[in-house]
Amino acid sequence: MKRDLIVGRMQPVHKGHLNVIQETLDEVDELIIGIGSAEKSHTLSNPFTGGERVLMLTKALREYDIDPSKYYIIPLEDIACNSLWVGHVKMLTPPFRKVISGNALVKQLFAEENIPHKQPHLFNREEYSGTEVRRRILNNEDWQSLLPKSVVKVIEEIKGIERIRNIAQKEVSEIAYEKKTNQN
Ligand code: ATP
Ligand code: MG
Repeated sequence: MKRDLIVGRMQPVHKGHLNVIQETLDEVDELIIGIGSAEKSHTLSNPFTGGERVLMLTKALREYDIDPSKYYIIPLEDIACNSLWVGHVKMLTPPFRKVISGNALVKQLFAEENIPHKQPHLFNREEYSGTEVRRRILNNEDWQSLLPKSVVKVIEEIKGIERIRNIAQKEVSEIAYEKKTNQN
C-alpha cells in the first residue's frame, strides 16, 4: 500500500494545497493530510482554528471531486520538543511511507528518523501562498480567486474576514501602546 503524508498549516486552505494533493493522489493509493499547528488560531499568521481548517479542507476536497476513501485528514498539534515531533506525528497518523513538505525543519526532523522526504512541486507560488492570501485580505485585494469556492464560503460562514481585520487592529494598537510606554 503506497500511503504518504503531506503536512501544511493551511491558514487558509488555498489552490496550491489542492493542486499538490491532486498531483500526489495520482502517485499513491492513499494520502494522509496533516493539518499542522492545529491548536493555533486567532493570530495574524494563524487566524483559523484546527476545526475550521478541517471544514475548509473537507469541503474543498469534495468540490474537487476527490474520492473520500483516498485520504485521511488529521489535525496535528505542535509540541514543545522538536526532537520528539516525528514520534508525535506517527502516533496520530496511519502508517506512511514518506512525507511531502516544503518546510526545512519538517524535512530535517523526518530525515533524522530515516523517513524519506519529497519536496512538493509548487504551483503558482507567487499567488498560491497563505501569506499572500492573508496579505490580500488585509489590503482589500482579490483573495477569493486564490481559494476553492467552497473555502471562500466557509470563511464567510465563520466571519473570517472580520476576524482577521479585528486581530490586525488589535495588534497595531498593542504595538502603538508598547511604543508609547517605552518612550515614557
Ligand atoms: P504560509 O504562507 O502561511 O506559510 P503556505 O502557502 O506556505 O502558507 P502552508 O500552510 O505553510 O502553506 O503549507 C505548506 C505546504 O503546503 C507545503 O509544504 C506544500 O506541501 C503545500 N503548498 C503550499 N503552497 C503550495 C503551492 N503553491 N503549490 C504546491 N504546494 C503548496
Ligand atoms: Mg508555509
